[in-house]
Amino acid sequence: MKDNGILAWVAYLALGLSLAGNLWFVGMPGWALIPAALAGWYLADLMSGAIHMYMDYRPCRSGIGLDRLYFYEGSRDSDEYRTLFGQTMRQIGPIERLVFDFKNHHPRPLALGRRNLWRQIGSTVIIATLPASLALNLLCWAGLRAGWPVPGWFTGGAIAFLLGGTFAQYFHGTLHRERNPWFIHLMRRLGLLMTPQAHNIHHETLARDFSTNSGWSNPVLNRVFAWVQRRGGMDRRGLEPY
Ligand SMILES: [Zn+2]
Ligand SMILES: [Zn+2]
Repeated sequence: MKDNGILAWVAYLALGLSLAGNLWFVGMPGWALIPAALAGWYLADLMSGAIHMYMDYRPCRSGIGLDRLYFYEGSRDSDEYRTLFGQTMRQIGPIERLVFDFKNHHPRPLALGRRNLWRQIGSTVIIATLPASLALNLLCWAGLRAGWPVPGWFTGGAIAFLLGGTFAQYFHGTLHRERNPWFIHLMRRLGLLMTPQAHNIHHETLARDFSTNSGWSNPVLNRVFAWVQRRGGMDRRGLEPY
């Protein structure tokens, strides 16, 4: 995804309007909205961790130069590197690119924090959260028309899930950046976002704490990871291109 172009603004606007529409369907909030929103926030964290775990350990396609990019020793601003990067990336699709990005993040974590918002969340919005939010609009609307309105707590929980999912890579980026907006600090203090110290455990081991939003789901996912590894999955050779 390139810089903030017209596509980015259209996508932001569409997502904003769609989420506002869903918020309208929530109606008068009852007490059930709070546990539902926390559950949605938990699920977004779980999703961020499960995808991260899969991408870290899924082997890159070999023989096309991804290993040369990963282990490149010269300057990454050089023409040689840029040419190599362009040639290699043209050979792979968006999923394989994402797999490479996740692995490349481990030795060079600061790069993620330097990226602009669209580079961080653009593909998530287009592929996942915008379609999901539009589907929720449709579900709420159809429910109202059929006389079976979707409960407000459910819609509220889904909105929390969509927000957490949309900004997952942005939140991950804030863990690798010194200066962050005030609301990030506030959300950390409230326990809604994890701290850089907590995320460091992932970078030191690459074998635990894959979730990067609140980190609430890490105890569960760590058990899942250990279970899969005991069965021969999650081979550490998948962590780097070869
Ligand atoms: Zn990782
Ligand atoms: Zn990280």
